[in-house]
Parts: sequence; structure tokens; C-alpha cells
Amino acid sequence: MSQTRSEVAVLGMDCAECTLHVRQAIAALPGVRGVEVFLAAEKAVVDYNAAQVDLPAIRKAVQAAGYQAPVGSEEESAAGSLAQMGSSFGRAVLWVLGLVFGAVLLVVVAGEWLGLFEAVTTRIPWPIGWLIVLVGWVPVLRNVITAALRRQVIAHTLMSVGVLAALAVGEWTTAAIVVFFMRVGDSVEHFTAERARRAVKDLTALAPKQARVLRQGAEAMVEIDQVVVGDVVVVRPGEQIPVDGEVVDGSATVDQATLTGEPLPVEAGPGMRVLAATLVRLGSLRVRAEQVGRDTTFGRVIRMVEEAERHRADVQRLADRFSAYFLPFVGLIALLTFVLRRDPLATAAVLVVACSCAIALATPIAVLASIGAGAKRGLLVKGGKYLELLDRADVVLIDKTGTLTLGQPQITDVVPFNGVAADEVLALAAGAERYSEHPLAEAVRRASQAHGLEAVAPSRFEALPGFGVRAQVNGRQVIVGSKRILDGATLPAQAQALEADGKTLLYVAVDGQPQGVLAATDTIRPEVPAALAALRGLGVERIELLTGDNSRTAAALAEQLGVAYQAELLPADKLEVVRRYQGQGKTVVMVGDGVNDAPALAQADVGIAMGAAGSDIAVEASHVVLLRDDWALAPEALRIARRTMRVVRTNIGYTLVYNLIGLTAAALGWLSPVFAAVAQSIPDLVILANSSRLLRQK
Ligand code: ADP
Ligand code: MG
Repeated sequence: MSQTRSEVAVLGMDCAECTLHVRQAIAALPGVRGVEVFLAAEKAVVDYNAAQVDLPAIRKAVQAAGYQAPVGSEEESAAGSLAQMGSSFGRAVLWVLGLVFGAVLLVVVAGEWLGLFEAVTTRIPWPIGWLIVLVGWVPVLRNVITAALRRQVIAHTLMSVGVLAALAVGEWTTAAIVVFFMRVGDSVEHFTAERARRAVKDLTALAPKQARVLRQGAEAMVEIDQVVVGDVVVVRPGEQIPVDGEVVDGSATVDQATLTGEPLPVEAGPGMRVLAATLVRLGSLRVRAEQVGRDTTFGRVIRMVEEAERHRADVQRLADRFSAYFLPFVGLIALLTFVLRRDPLATAAVLVVACSCAIALATPIAVLASIGAGAKRGLLVKGGKYLELLDRADVVLIDKTGTLTLGQPQITDVVPFNGVAADEVLALAAGAERYSEHPLAEAVRRASQAHGLEAVAPSRFEALPGFGVRAQVNGRQVIVGSKRILDGATLPAQAQALEADGKTLLYVAVDGQPQGVLAATDTIRPEVPAALAALRGLGVERIELLTGDNSRTAAALAEQLGVAYQAELLPADKLEVVRRYQGQGKTVVMVGDGVNDAPALAQADVGIAMGAAGSDIAVEASHVVLLRDDWALAPEALRIARRTMRVVRTNIGYTLVYNLIGLTAAALGWLSPVFAAVAQSIPDLVILANSSRLLRQK
């Protein structure tokens, strides 16, 4: 089986139902297993069997459905973009001509209606009038017919019937004005969709495009897609780092703002990991590429924003379902109007006044605008669904180590038991911790180095997630970890005193015997208290600390922060806590560092991973990714969610009410088709203006 996944560019989708049409067109091809279509990224991701169908066939299906599917390869896209420029110029000219003509027509009709001048339009012979209508209408009709052939009714189908009705009763001016507003509506929708796309495009524009690669001792500037893993790239002052990788030479200050929103630059030198799309300010670097292109952290960020539509908000599904019933409903009202009132113009008005595209666009536009604006500040939300859930968060659960604390603990005491030397306990612990990536392991290694001890690499190593490590060091079995490793043995008095001090204790057992304890302290991130206060201010009813650390340490910290806590939890217990709150009907947000919280992060309604730039597990397991270690981003995420959902709800509510009033007025014959045409374009404009505010949020 030759199962392939490809991305196909799809242009011309200005309406939420367009993605549905494209999806259906591609899905109907033989050999296509799955297809997802993204409005903002203007692409389709297709899973297909390459033996049965190929890319040209997929593109043809897209074109047959009435959209453009340009070829993506280098040379062709250059030519393509020229052609596109030409066509967009032609489009602009036509647009201006149409606008001027429509405006003149409107003024004339309005003038006649107000009696400012005698009938002008009646002096124009009807064939010319019809011609005017047809010029504007034919492109619309083409879409209507394409849709009809697929047994689909689109918004313009109804309006076209309205146009037909107007022509039938000899009102070509009415028909022309309806067509004019149909096209105005299209343009507004196109513009709105473009605004939303800008959020994605702005981000893509920041991606590195070229790299200076070291090949055979010489530097060569190459296109970014020519760079492969293992290449060494040279980055000069003021330049962008083009890949994720390790610094092999040089030193520099690196500005990560493009990726994480972090304003303070960091120092980078040999052995350190640097990330694509960040900027070298002072100094220069040689970096060995470990990830390139789409695989870099920045590449993933772009992909997530592009594909955020996958995780749609419930309210969006609702709007989609509404659209599906709305058009038939309008059709029915029109039929009733015609049958009961025998008034073709009122019928036309009913068909013209209803607009469903606005309602279908209301959610995606607002959601995309917010997600794009957030991504630029290091706050990545994987989809509208999570904005919706954040908006109604009840409980916020917080992991302690590495999330609430700086994650750079210091070992303050080494207390040996049974007369063993302190240095021996520390050295064995450091050996056992050699391969652990836990912040506490790092602290143990640092302490042993500071004491000038030589830590022997373990011959066997095993992480015990949530409570420690087990390793074979110098032929002895060494376990380092929480109280849990002691299996209920009584603690020496010294250890209890350290616990009461609020320190984190790491017990060291050698060959099954407790040999000592290390005490560590960690500092709370300075911005935490303010962030927790902000969360409470946003209506979160409960904030709770979840930790694998001992109860006394947790209690001390929880009291200091004024939050509840649960201590001595294993990763599985944290998952259980999340489930329990969900069982009570609460919407649960979990904030974690992702190292061993992945299960709880994934289970939570919204899992927020802190400081996740560069950590793959955290990015995969969570729903919201804070690319920088900054607690202020957590309440910020809630705030953005609030604002977005408020805009979405007003958009939908407004469109609904507006449509109901419009339909009623039209059915009762209070609205001429001309006024109906003017009226139907207003919700589009309101939604555009309302949602655009989200693009500018600070
Ligand atoms: P938290 O739940 O606060 O993030 P963890 O689940 O990472 O903390 O760890 C819980 C406890 O387990 C720590 O307080 C520590 O006592 C112990 N522990 C975890 N990992 C290690 C390790 N690598 N070395 C020593 N102790 C560890
Ligand atoms: Mg942790």
C-alpha cells in the first residue's frame, strides 16, 4: 500500500461552507482516505493511496468545485504569483468599475424613488438592462450551478432565484441592485477571510527563508529547504537563526522575541540549544542543525496555527448546523410567501434578505484572529475549542516543581544516616541522577560538582516518574527519590525538621538501606502571586496545587500562595484528580511543565504547558502552549478566550436577530427587494468590524 499524505494549496475559499465543498470534492475521489481543509491556511491535507490517485487529479477536483489549486513547486509558484498578481489587478479594476456603476445605479433608483427626477431607468431598453444584470450575475451563477450539480444549495442560490423573480416581473433595476449587493457581500467576505488569514501570514512571514551553510569549508547562502539535519550554519549579528540546533562555536546574545515573545535576550555559547526564527543580536554563532523547516519549534507553531481549525469550538459546530438548516428554512418561507401572498417581489425580498455566510464566518474569523494574535506573543492555543473551554474554566490545577517554581532548585543540606560520609551519599546520588532530566536531578549533579566529587556514571538507569530514579552505581543499587522509596520506614528526626522547613527531601537508599537525605529549596517564580490573583479575578472558583512532593513542603507553599493543595501524588494520581473534578461537571485547566504531567495535561479540558519551547512532549500533550516561562501568560490566555467568545456570541446573536427581523419584514411585504439587498450586506460588515478588533488586541 502506498499511503501518502500531501498538502495542496486551495485558493478562493472565502466562506466557511467553501471548505466543506472542497472537502467533499476531494473526498469523492477514489483512493482518498482522509481530507482536512483549512480556510486560514488555504490548504487541504489529503491522505491518499498514490496508486489510485495523484496530486494533479486532486487539484483538478478542487478546480472543478470552483476553486484554484496552484502547483506548489518553486519555479511554478514564481510564475503563479505573477499570474495571480495580474489577476488580482484585473480583479481590482473590475471591482472599481462595478462599484462605480452600482453606485450610479443606486443613486438613480433612489432619485426616482424620492421623485427627485423623472423615470430614467424606464427609458433604458430592457435588453440593455438584462445585459447589465447578466454581467454581474454570470460569475455567481457559475458557482450556483456548480453547487447545484453537486446537489448543494448555497446562499447565492436563493438570491439568484430572487434575481430571477425580479426579472420575471420586469424589474431589471431591482435585479441589478440585488446582483450588485451580492457582489459587494462577496467582496466583504473575501476581505474578512483575508483579514483572518493575515494572522497566519504574519507569522509565516517571520520564518527563516535562507541559511548560510558551511559546506566543504566554504560558506554558501542557500534556500532554507536545502538545509539538512547535520549541516552547520553560520549566523552573523542581526541575522535570524535558521534552524533548531546546538551551538558548536561562537557566542552571542540571542533575541527570542519572535518565537516566545520574551523581550530579554539570552546568552548563547557552545553546547547550548538555539531555536529557529530567533535573532542573533551581538556576536555570531555556528549551529549544527538538529531540526529544520517544519520540524523546528517555530515550524510547529506555524503548523498549529494553520491547523487550529481542526479543534473547532462547539459554538462553531452549532453555527455550521444552523447554516445547514437555515437555507432550506428560508426557501420554505419564500415558498409560503409566494403561495399565500402571490407577491413575487415580497418573495424575492425574502430570498435576498437572508444571509447565512456571515453566521458561518462569525466564529472562525474571531477564533483565527485571536489565535494569530496570541501566537505572536508566545501564547499558542491549538484551536477554538480550547478558547471556548478556557472561557468557562472552573478549576485550575497547578503542578509544582518546574511550573510554579523556577525549576532551578539548590541542594541546601546533605544529611547522612548511620555514620556514612556525607560526600559519599552525595556522590552516589549524583551518579544515579546522571541521566535524569528532572530539575532536582540537575540540582544534585550541581551540588556534587560544587563539592568537587566525582560522580560515577550508572551501569543501569531507570526513571521512576513522579518519585525518583533507580540506578546501578559502582555495582550498588542506588535509589534517589521522595519518601515513597522508603517504604514506610521511620524518618530520622533531622529529616522531619527539614520537612517542617518547607524543603523538598530526596532520600538516598543504597542496596535497600536508607543512607541519607538531601534537602532542596526552590524559588517560586516572582510573577506567580499576581497571576493567581488575576485568575481568581477572572472567575476561577478553585486553584489547587498538585505535587509529588511531601505534604509539609506543599502545605508551606500553598499557604504562602493562598491556594489549596494535594501532595504526594504520582502522575497517575494527578490524572485521577483531573478526572474527579471533571466528574463533578467542572471545566478543568491543568498547568504543568510537561515532563511527567503529560497524562494530566492531556486529560484536562485545557492542558497548559509552561515554557515549552523546545520540549516536544509538552507541546504534543497540551492544548495551550506557553512558549516562554511567564505565568502572566496564563491569565492572559483566559482573557483572550473571554474576549473571543464574547465577540463570537455577539456576532452570532446579532446575525440571528437581524435575519429574523429581516425575514419577517420581507415576508410581510414591508421590504422591497432593493432594501432587502442593502440590508443583507450589513451583518457581514458588522461581523468584519467586530472580529477585526481581535486582531489588534494588546
Ligand atoms: P511535582 O509534582 O511537584 O512536579 P514531581 O512529580 O516531578 O514533582 O516529583 C515529586 C517528588 O518526587 C519530588 O518532590 C522528589 O522528592 C521526587 N523526585 C522526582 N524525581 C526525582 C529525581 N529525579 N530525583 C530525586 N527525586 C525525585
Ligand atoms: Mg513537575
